[in-house]
Amino acid sequence: MNTADILIIGAGAAGLTAAYELANAGKKVIVLEAQDRIGGRIHTHHEGASSKHIELGAEFVHGDLPVTLGLLNEAGIKYNPASASMYRYDQGKFTTNEYFIEHWDLLIDKLNKLKQDTNINGFMLKEFPGDKYKELRASVRQFVSGYDTADPQKASCFALRKEWQNEDENAQHRIEDGYCRLMNYLANECKANGGEIYLNAIAKDIYWEPDKVNVITADGITYHAGKIILAMPLGVLQAGGGEKGGITFHPPIKTHQEAIQQMGFGAVIKIVLEFDEAFWENKQTEAMAGKSLKSMGYLFSEEDIPTWWTQFPNRSTIFTGWIGGPDAEAKKDLSDNEILVQGLQSVANIFKFSIDELKVRIKSWHVVNWTAKPFSRGSYAYDTVDAPSARGILNTPVDNTIFFTGEYLYEGAAMGTVEAALTSGKNVAKLLINSCT
Ligand SMILES: Cc1cc2nc3c(=O)[nH]c(=O)nc-3n(C[C@H](O)[C@H](O)[C@H](O)COP(=O)(O)OP(=O)(O)OC[C@H]3O[C@@H](n4cnc5c(N)ncnc54)[C@H](O)[C@@H]3O)c2cc1C
Repeated sequence: MNTADILIIGAGAAGLTAAYELANAGKKVIVLEAQDRIGGRIHTHHEGASSKHIELGAEFVHGDLPVTLGLLNEAGIKYNPASASMYRYDQGKFTTNEYFIEHWDLLIDKLNKLKQDTNINGFMLKEFPGDKYKELRASVRQFVSGYDTADPQKASCFALRKEWQNEDENAQHRIEDGYCRLMNYLANECKANGGEIYLNAIAKDIYWEPDKVNVITADGITYHAGKIILAMPLGVLQAGGGEKGGITFHPPIKTHQEAIQQMGFGAVIKIVLEFDEAFWENKQTEAMAGKSLKSMGYLFSEEDIPTWWTQFPNRSTIFTGWIGGPDAEAKKDLSDNEILVQGLQSVANIFKFSIDELKVRIKSWHVVNWTAKPFSRGSYAYDTVDAPSARGILNTPVDNTIFFTGEYLYEGAAMGTVEAALTSGKNVAKLLINSCT
């Protein structure tokens, strides 16, 4: 009872993948999860008793990503194409957005010539000064904070140039019935192989010596194992002991704790609005916009909540808002209602409604301020200049006893994604299996 070969803290994509692999390899695993559900930053919400679902966290498979698609195929879970056109709304005009960043090729060229890494904000100011490049600088800022949810004053140029040259925008997928199906598959397989998963179990103190770990949860229960995998978000690890969800190590693991602080963790708010009608597809909108928006996927704007998307190619009345990076961080302490009003005002400004008109058209809404949630404390990781060396340290276990996993420890091009978390979970399991033989 409460004793395992390996304890895993966190039942997100990384922790569950590690649990699935290790249980499959015959190890006795116990997973402790702080929340009353598995999945972490994957959170598929089912509306009432209906089969309709809403993704409050991860929604897309960003490319033909091998580990994600491999597991989906293994589990027999279907996924569908989700590629869609990009539009921009600016000063009353809707334009298609495919190639909207002027001087982009020059930017990539200069990034490729960069010998010493630096942050993207400093780089842009140095290499692209003045009025001529004002729009390029603004676009880069919007891209880095919007998509990467990163702080441009900290985000690494080397990482961004790698990301920007590896994008495969044609291949996007959504998972039929939601990402949670993949999480349920991993959890069920783990349990079928003798693994145990405890919900509402907030790990708080870790007492350890080589090959011996005791974990005490917030409600005072102790779990024992020979090894431990920390599969918590980087933001929670950065918060440290004393904060809700944070961990105190006894004795401290100084080098690893320093490395944790050297990595970047972004901020995001996601708003999911369900309306009575997909008004962006109707005749009035077409007349107002001067063109049909029926095939609109993404819509970028300068509004308070700047980025929106539809469920295209699926027909749906759901409109999803997104704000990332420093602007999301600045809204961290606003109430969900205040953020909802900002979202509605943004939509009202774009589609020329009054906010009162919109309010009566709303059927359901969700605001998820991921940065304010104690067990995520942000969006996903981005590379700072120091991140590669910090990741090297964190991918090396402490005395072959304390292991780390999570999206932030992935080395490939699909940074910050579910693919990153699944890959890291697989890698840590392999490391552990090899270290035990
Ligand atoms: C709004 C949003 C949208 C996203 N969209 C996409 C997308 O479309 N596509 C994509 O690929 N990726 C997307 N991502 C990123 C993706 O969701 C994450 O990279 C991935 O799910 C992270 O998995 P993880 O296992 O590393 O961490 P998590 O999923 O965060 O899992 C960590 C777990 O640890 C638990 N935990 C924390 N503290 C403790 C504690 N003290 N004790 C016990 N348990 C603890 C947490 O509750 C959580 O369940 C999105 C993320 C967000 C926030």
